[in-house]
Parts: sequence; structure tokens; C-alpha cells
Amino acid sequence: MNTGTTLQSQLEEFHRRMGEVLDLNATNSLLQWDQETYMPPKGAEARAQQQATLSALAHRLFTEPAFGGLLRSLSSQRDALSDDQAKAVEVALYDYENETKLPGAFVHEFSLLQSKAYQTWVTAREQADFSAYQPVLKRMVEMLRQKAEYLGYEGTPYNALLNEYERGMTVDTLKPVFAQLAQEQSTLVKAIVESPNQPDLGWVDQPWDVDTQWDFTIEVLRDIGYDFDAGRQDRSVHPFTTNFDLADVRITTRLHERELFSALTGSVHEGGHALYEQGFLESDRRTPLAEAISLGIHESQSRLWENVIGRSPQFWTHYAPRLRERFAALQSVTDEQIIRAINAVQPSFIRVEADECTYNLHIILRFELELALIEGDCQVEDTPALWNEKMKQYLGLDVPDDANGCLQDIHWSHGAMGYFPTYALGNLYAAQFMEVIRTDIPDLDSLIEQGNFSPLLQWLRTRVHQVGRRKTPSELVESVTGDGLRVEPYLNYLKKKYSELYSL
Ligand code: ZN
Repeated sequence: MNTGTTLQSQLEEFHRRMGEVLDLNATNSLLQWDQETYMPPKGAEARAQQQATLSALAHRLFTEPAFGGLLRSLSSQRDALSDDQAKAVEVALYDYENETKLPGAFVHEFSLLQSKAYQTWVTAREQADFSAYQPVLKRMVEMLRQKAEYLGYEGTPYNALLNEYERGMTVDTLKPVFAQLAQEQSTLVKAIVESPNQPDLGWVDQPWDVDTQWDFTIEVLRDIGYDFDAGRQDRSVHPFTTNFDLADVRITTRLHERELFSALTGSVHEGGHALYEQGFLESDRRTPLAEAISLGIHESQSRLWENVIGRSPQFWTHYAPRLRERFAALQSVTDEQIIRAINAVQPSFIRVEADECTYNLHIILRFELELALIEGDCQVEDTPALWNEKMKQYLGLDVPDDANGCLQDIHWSHGAMGYFPTYALGNLYAAQFMEVIRTDIPDLDSLIEQGNFSPLLQWLRTRVHQVGRRKTPSELVESVTGDGLRVEPYLNYLKKKYSELYSL
């Protein structure tokens, strides 16, 4: 037998099957995109069927024992493969092993529970009634504990859930990091709230033509490097990014007439996600390497563009005059008023509306609560009380009802525990990357003042985007910064920026 030919035909089979699975997943994403943008409401029922069929098909193709055998065989011959081939096989085998750990009956029951939990959550939130949601959440926590047992873990079962979203991350790593963030950020927020130097926000509260807002988002997206020939922007209730290929990465944003900045910050956030996905290597197309490393790394890209760049004084030195050209009502508003308004800090109940200074506190609260639920230190019925106690502790707020408290997020109804920490990790990674970027591009501030983002984008392309899934999150952070996860870069960034804004 000619092993060269055998290896060659195995590789062809690997790429053929991987390509089919990725095509089905991309098609499913396209249906999802349509559902959230243009699908008429009555299409929902048939759409749910179509999506379920496509996911089942993709799952079946990917988890076939024969395909697992092929992956193992290729993996055992890795010395004969190129580095990229070996990596693609390794990543596919990792996914294969994860997807086949859960028994079919469990997956089926879990997906039934997800739809039931989602529907129950929607009504419970509308009526601010946690007791209606409690039984289904209790069952969800039980099933998540079971899931952790199937997936396997070291230390706490929460690690198995965390690993689904941020490979290799553990509670032991997060705990001290979050404890320091909680302590220092709540101290900072307190100082900001008590500062006599509060921003003037009165001028923001007036109507802002939504078409003009839209045109401005397009201008900024083009400037930062989003390729409209390989993507498009549409409108949706919740902004999101989706991709079907690196040459078709779509984003959405929201438009509210009385909010001047919500469309722009939504667009730049999703634009950051999209630049990542448009930046994968052409040669990785239709392989598992043309994918994001983790949710935390994905979020580092969106938050870097939205917050670190898009809310910086340098960015507004360039864009305030451009925004003023579009809105006559801004003639008497200064650059400084714009900068202070877009960086206004205000403790509030709702995570998705939170500013940069309070955002991580919302995440830490959820992490602590999820961990206690999974470890059995908190009973499901005690969730509201514990939530409200932590809101008081971290943000000094009294939660008026559960709709503004523990019922606000969709995540738990989907069975997504271990997901929230990735948002905070995105903030930390972004700040760590920025320290290196500032060393490598010393004139970054003046480039941004000129609206020149291409050196920054080029840096992100080569150091982060093109890596694809060749590294784990911690390997990427290590390779870029020479260090592990660190909290100081983010805290230094926040303290410097907000001390100046609020004259602390
Ligand atoms: Zn995001």
C-alpha cells in the first residue's frame, strides 16, 4: 500500500467533510441573520424547523464515528502533515471529542429544556415574576451540572462550562482577577459619582435624524477598514455580527431617534468583531482555522474598537467636526461636550446599557452568582436576593424588581453559564494588547486624530486575526504580550482616562 496516497486521500476526505459541515453551519447562520433582519413574523415557525434540520445534519456529519476515526488516524500521522494541516486536524479533533462527549438523549432533553426555558423567561421577565421562572432555572442548573460531568473537568464543574466559551480558562485564574477588578472599579465609580465635575448631558436629549445617524455609521465603518464588498450593515433590535465566509461578514446596528450615540457605538462594536472575521487568512477558508479563538478574544476586538478607540478624545478630535457637519443642532456643542457625553458614567441596573467603568461589575456579579448556583452554594430560589445584595454592594443601587435584576439577560435560559466572564476578559485582553500596540505604534494617538486607522488594523491583522484558531486564548495573549492574563493594564487605562474626564 502506498502510504503517501493514503495520507493524501485521507486529507482530501478531511477537507471535503469539514467543508460540508462548515457550509451547513454557514447556511444556518444565514437563516439566522435573515430571521433577525428581514423575515416576516409569520415565518418564525417554519424557520425554527429549517434551522433544527440543518444543525442536526451538520452535527450528524461531524460526529460520525468514521470521521472520528479519520481524525485520529490523521492526528497519529501529524509528522507527515504541514504545520497548518496538523493544526486544522488538531482543532477538528478537539471539537469532535467535545461534541461526542454528550449522549444523544441528553442533547435532546437539553434542547427541549432550552426552548421551554426561553419561553418561560420571556413571560417571566415581562411580568417581573421570578417565581414563574424558578422551576425551569432549577432544572437548567441541574442539567448544566450533569453536562459538566459529561464534559469532564478539574477542580470545579464550572470550569467545564467556562471551557466551552474560553478554552483553558479556570475559576482559579478568574477569582483573584475579578476580586481586584471589583474592588478597584467600585472605588473608581464611587469617586466618579461623587465628583463635582459632572458632564452636561442636557443637549443630548433631543431628536436626531435616524438616516443621518445611519450615514455616519457607514462613514466610520469604512474609515476603520470594514470592507463593504465583503459585508453589509442592516438594522436589528440587538446588534450582532455573523459570517458565512471571510468575504461575507455582516453586522447589524440599532437606531433610536433620541439617542445620538447608540447606533454608532453599536456599529463600531460589531465592526470590531467583523474586522476580526474579515481578517482570517484566505488559505484557511473552509477549515476550522478560519474561526475565532474564543469569545473573550472576539470581544477584545469589539471592545478595543468601540471603547478604547471609538470613545477616545483623539477619535473625536477627528469625528466631532464631521458629526457637526451632519447635525445642525451640534453647532453650539463643543468637542469636549461630545467626548464627555459619550464617556458619561452612571451606575444603572441593565448590563447592556452599562458604561465602561461599571460594565465589569455587572459581569462579576453574574460570575459569582453562576458559580454559587453550579457549586450548590446558592439555591435557585435565593437568586433574586443574592443578585440584589450584590447590586447594592458593587453599584450602590436598590433593584426595584426582577426584570431590572436577575431576569434581564437571555443567557441562562439558553443554558449559557460560564459565558458572561468572556465579556470582562475581552476588556482585559484589549487593554493588554493596547500596551503592546502603543509600543509598536508610538504615534498611534496622532494617527487616530487624523482618522488613519490602517496601521492599527494592520497590527491586529498580523498579530491576532490571521492567527485564526492556531493558538488557545492564553497562548495568543502570551505570544502577543509575553505575559499571562493581567488586570493592571485595564485598571491603569480606566483610572487614567476617567481621572482626566472627571478631574479626580
Ligand atoms: Zn460583542
